[in-house]
Order: sequence, then structure tokens, then C-alpha cells
Amino acid sequence: MMDGNFNENDISRVVEADRAHIWHHLSQHKPYETTEPRIIVEGKGMRVWDQKGKEHLDAVSGGVWTVNVGYGRESIANAVRDQLIKLNYFAGSAGSIPGSQFAEKLIDKMPGMSRVYYCNSGSEANEKGFKMVRQIAHKRYGGKKHKILYRDRDYHGTTIACLSAGGQDERNAQYGPFTDGFVRVPHCLEYRSFEQDGAPSENYGVWAADQIEKIILAEGPDTVGGLCLEPVTAGGGVIVPPDGYWERVQEICRKYDILLHIDEVVCGVGRTGTWFGYQHYGIQPDMVTMAKGVASGYAAIACLVTTEEVFNMFKDDASDPMNYFRDISTFGGCTAGPTAGLENMNIIENEGLLANTTKMGDYMLDQLAALADRHAVIGDVRGKGLFLGAELVADRDSRDPVAEKMVQAVVGDCMAQGVIIGATNRSLPGKNNTLCFSPALIAKKDDIDQIITAVDGALGRVFG
Ligand code: PMP
Repeated sequence: MMDGNFNENDISRVVEADRAHIWHHLSQHKPYETTEPRIIVEGKGMRVWDQKGKEHLDAVSGGVWTVNVGYGRESIANAVRDQLIKLNYFAGSAGSIPGSQFAEKLIDKMPGMSRVYYCNSGSEANEKGFKMVRQIAHKRYGGKKHKILYRDRDYHGTTIACLSAGGQDERNAQYGPFTDGFVRVPHCLEYRSFEQDGAPSENYGVWAADQIEKIILAEGPDTVGGLCLEPVTAGGGVIVPPDGYWERVQEICRKYDILLHIDEVVCGVGRTGTWFGYQHYGIQPDMVTMAKGVASGYAAIACLVTTEEVFNMFKDDASDPMNYFRDISTFGGCTAGPTAGLENMNIIENEGLLANTTKMGDYMLDQLAALADRHAVIGDVRGKGLFLGAELVADRDSRDPVAEKMVQAVVGDCMAQGVIIGATNRSLPGKNNTLCFSPALIAKKDDIDQIITAVDGALGRVFG
């Protein structure tokens, strides 16, 4: 019988059905004709086991910086189970008990923010932010103040509108034409500032932010409604904004009445050692989007959080039938998400995981810097909390990226040693030259040491 009801322990059937029917994310499938796809069977804490029973230390929290509190959390599973039996779902304009509870918890950690809009994915949350900017432009400015600025090397999601706001050309290639009204501003990666005309050697952060103002002035401030940025850029190569950058960005947004939309899909809920990445910089966003770490992958949930001021723009003039946010997300009504989200935050709080993230992140950054002393191929190391990167260059003077196949060889060597790491950048096809690390926030010194030892060995073998 080929009806899917095979025994879960019959791994050859799992592989057979995978080969026959699964279209894997981010994958060229040709190699799977001759090699087995990797299937992850089980997880506990920081570790996962594949179909061959091999143990891996997961240094990327589920592949894409998601499983912040680690695998096998029974308290989350139990809370979700109980809630699903009580009420799994109801959507539309109705609320729910876990929806209220989680919103209150979240807002408690986000001073100045006020309203939570539930949806399913980071892309969707960002699109909803873009829609709000557009609707405000129509309501208040005759449609004129509709442009949304985004940054080179940032990523906001996979839909066509999100790719239109996407600064990673590798991901955009072959998916155009894109949507009008999105305008790119330069990146703020100091290590690559030499590629930017006029970049100074001092006060680079303020200069990089000033480039945004120049673009606003060129476009016309009365046409720009929103600025969407990652607090620390993830897939674009783990870019920690330089000193002075964020403060100046906030000033510019206020000066030109531009809504500041911070994409916390990766940084959100503890990853950088604060609840949210923007909280390192003392700034006040108008909109914040989040997804991955919100429930650590125990349920699909994303949120768009706004200030009361933004919310009120959709409440005034209630007699006008067009004057509310005419948007819905079917699975924004699933109660598993906020239930898992609440318990996820409780775990982070009760186990002191923010402090652990800062401590272990600082330790790991030091260890990466020590690796750079031994391996000339590491041009730059950077990170915040347990969100770190090491950029590999062919030559420290030219800073030319190493060939991507060499970077993949390092990732493959680590995998063979039982440590899963990532590689990213995605600014240009074939240029993924930054090793990235995002272990769960429960990481201990021994786990970090195991990751560093694996990378050390891999770099030695691949680059000699
Ligand atoms: N924003 C950022 C910063 C991301 O890294 C991602 C996903 N990698 C997204 C948005 C999109 O999230 P999702 O895949 O949940 O749509």
C-alpha cells in the first residue's frame, strides 16, 4: 500500500516517499537521484539525529535560526496539546484566550509598542507592514507617500512584494518583474565599506545612515512612507550595524515622517541577547515584525506589532467603510501559535536565557576571533548574542570572497564531524562566503567549543 501510512521506523520507506514526492526548500534536486536526502528524525536540546542515527550538534537552530529554546520542550508541547483540545482555531474578528495572553506578554517586553496582529510567516508579517504603509499613504496623503525603502543585503521574505523589498540579488534573480514603489538604500557593512563611493574611515555608521537621507531627498520626502530594515542583517552576511547608525536612522525617520519598520524575524525573541534586536540601540520603531523564534518552531506563528499611534490611524473616522485594516490571515486564528509563543517566552525568562545568550555570544565571538588569528582565510568576524558570522576571503588585502564551493566544503566537513553550521551572504550569486552560527540560546561553553573545534579542523583541511 502506498497510502502514506507506513511505519515511522521504516526509514527506507521514508526516504522512498521523500525521493518520490518531496520538493525540498532551497535545493537543487539532481544530487538526490544518487544520494539520500537528509532526514532529521529527532531532536533534544541542542542536538538532532538523522535517519542513520547520526548525532549532530545543531549550530543553526533548525537550519534557519529558529529553535531558540532548543528541541524536545515538553512544556510547550503540553501547553499546545491542551489548548488544541480546548479550542484549536477560530479566525476573523474573534479573539482567543492564548491570543490575549501572548499579546500581553509580548507587549510587556516591548515598551512603546501596543498592538499585535497575528499571521503565519515572516514574509506575511512584512507584507502586512507594507500594506499598512500603503493604506496610510492613501488615507492621509492621497496615495503619494507610498514608497518603501529597504536596504542592500537585507531580506524580508519570499513573496514577490517581499522580494521587491529584498536587497539580496541572489534571491531576486529570475523572479522579476517586481512591484513598484520599493527603493533600495546602501548596506552598512563596514568591512565592505571600501566598495562604497565616499565612505569615510571614521564615523562610518553616521555616514551610512546619511546615505538613506540622500535617497529620501532624491525621491522626495513626500513620496516616502516607510523604511524597513533588519536590526542585525541575517542572511545578508550577519551585519551588525556600526556605532551611530541606528540613532541617525531614527532621527531621519522622524524628520521626514517615515514609519520605521524593523524586521525582527531572525533577531526577535532573544537571539541577540535582548528580547528584540532593536533594543540594543535605544530606538523606538513604529512597526516590528517577527516569526522564527517567536515559538521556536513549535508552532507556525508570526506577528506584526505596532504602536498605538499606527493602530489609531486605522480606527479614526469609523463611519467610513474603507477606514480599517482590511486584511486577514487564515492561520492567524490558530491558537497553537500564541500558546507556544507564551511558553517559549516563559522558558527564556525562567531559565535566564537572555543573559546566557549574551555571555555565550561574547565567548563565541572571542573564540572566532582566535580562529581568525590562526586562519588567514577569515577576513572578519562579527555578531551579537548567539548570532554570529565569519566572512571568508581569498586575500585579506583585496577582501575578495573565497569561492562558494570552498565555503560549502567547510560546511560539509563540519557536517561530517557532526556539527551543522550555515553559510550565507546572498548579495550576489556564487558569493555566499560568510559562515554563520546561531546555536540555541541554551548553548553552554562545551557546545561552543565543539563548534569552534569543528570549524578549526574544517578550515585547516579545506584551506590547508
Ligand atoms: N525576514 C527575515 C530577516 C528573514 O530572515 C526571513 C526568513 N529567512 C524572513 C523575513 C521571511 O520569513 P518566512 O520564511 O517565515 O516567510
